[in-house]
Amino acid sequence: MKVLILENGRLFQKILRDLLIELGCAVSCVRTGEEGLELLVKATDSTRYDLIIASQHIFDQSSSDFIAHCKNCDLNTPIILLTSEPNPTLLRNARAAGIKDIFPKTNITYLKSSIRYYIQGKKTFDTQGGKVLYVEDSASVAHIVIRNLKKLNIEVTHFLTAEEAFNAFVDEDFDLVMTDVMLKGTMDGLSLVRMIRAQNSYLSNTPILAMTGHDDMQLRIDLLHAGINDYVTKPPVEEELAARVNNLITNKRLADQVRVQQRSLYNLAMTDQLTTCHNRHSLNDYAPKYIKDSLRYKHPLSMMILDLDHFKKINDELGHTTGDTVLSEIGRLLMATCRQGDIVSRIGGEEFLILLPHCNITDAMHKAENIRSMIELAEPSGLKVTASIGVATLNKHHEEDFDKLYKSADQAVYISKEQGRNRVTPDTHSVEASRLKPVKNL
Ligand code: GH3
Ligand code: MG
Ligand code: MG
Ligand code: MG
Repeated sequence: MKVLILENGRLFQKILRDLLIELGCAVSCVRTGEEGLELLVKATDSTRYDLIIASQHIFDQSSSDFIAHCKNCDLNTPIILLTSEPNPTLLRNARAAGIKDIFPKTNITYLKSSIRYYIQGKKTFDTQGGKVLYVEDSASVAHIVIRNLKKLNIEVTHFLTAEEAFNAFVDEDFDLVMTDVMLKGTMDGLSLVRMIRAQNSYLSNTPILAMTGHDDMQLRIDLLHAGINDYVTKPPVEEELAARVNNLITNKRLADQVRVQQRSLYNLAMTDQLTTCHNRHSLNDYAPKYIKDSLRYKHPLSMMILDLDHFKKINDELGHTTGDTVLSEIGRLLMATCRQGDIVSRIGGEEFLILLPHCNITDAMHKAENIRSMIELAEPSGLKVTASIGVATLNKHHEEDFDKLYKSADQAVYISKEQGRNRVTPDTHSVEASRLKPVKNL
């Protein structure tokens, strides 16, 4: 952004220049209206200023040509006026010269943040662009609105009916929906708003700008109740439309950022940092849902608890870092052997728990035996590592309680340890419930 500063105080000029340079602007400074005018006249299309910041002395007699030039030559460059003592004459002059932004000079901190906000707001406005889904059945209105939106760097997908627009809406991500209210076809703008808000996903939060007639107060109220974020009256004023579209897209972007951040914080909170498996905490989240689904859809749910054997020895003899490497390699191996929907979590130092939906006790025992032998063969960090495993399957004995299922699998691990480690033991209740004999020496 190119900025022309017209300020006769050296200190103030320096403060403004430093601030604008920090904001990435190219700055020219002059002290008088004549010098300013000279630069404006010389400027070509490519060197034209995007903003003029001028102190109130531009209304002195000596700067009258500068003001006249800004007013008469269709310059279109916005002017920010800095005032030390606003008075009615000054405000009248400013209004007559088309100056809309007047910032007080008396509080430098406030002035700096106002200019910062103005320039950064303009920059996002110029560059943010976005994707708009636009529904309008009048070709002439659509023509003007699309032209205005394109000036804002916006990609517009236009439909004549709400039905077509809704089909596109569910297929593609848009930053904003703009809809006329009276539409041809079976759906009007209000129905479209209701259908978007009824979506069962983040799409339901897509901002909506309605375009209504001047005299449709009740309709506007109904639209607001149905969930539109804002409206403009038709025919829309270009600057107003631009400002409203920009605000809605900016808010949408912020909401998107929050959603992404929430997702990554959630993942961080649910992940064991050493192995990248789920952590113990995430089981509180998953377990009730897995149990509920298993009971509701009547599919088996098994659990495997796996405790590495004599792991303390690895730490004692080779150091904690080697121990960590072994844990992370075992974690990776477990995740690689499990299918989508299985939950592999590290629930303690050298203990892992695997939840296996759609898996009965026989299948879970086979899977456990596979894992046991893979660990034995894997030799992470060149070491012989083995695991003792306990397996349980949800049955009446557990009374739909995750802790009871966990206890059954944990007792089975204890038996594996007692019987010499590096082995798989099923929970007896789970085996009885499936009317299978305990599986031995697999
Ligand atoms: P057992 O066969 O009876 O299971 O013997 P064990 O040595 O594996 O069991 P014990 O419970 O006595 O020791 C577990 C060890 O796991 C103790 C601890 O130093 C180690 N450990 C726990 N968390 C970590 C970790 O995050 N990194 C490393 N390197 N070691 C850990
Ligand atoms: Mg219409
Ligand atoms: Mg242990
Ligand atoms: Mg152990």
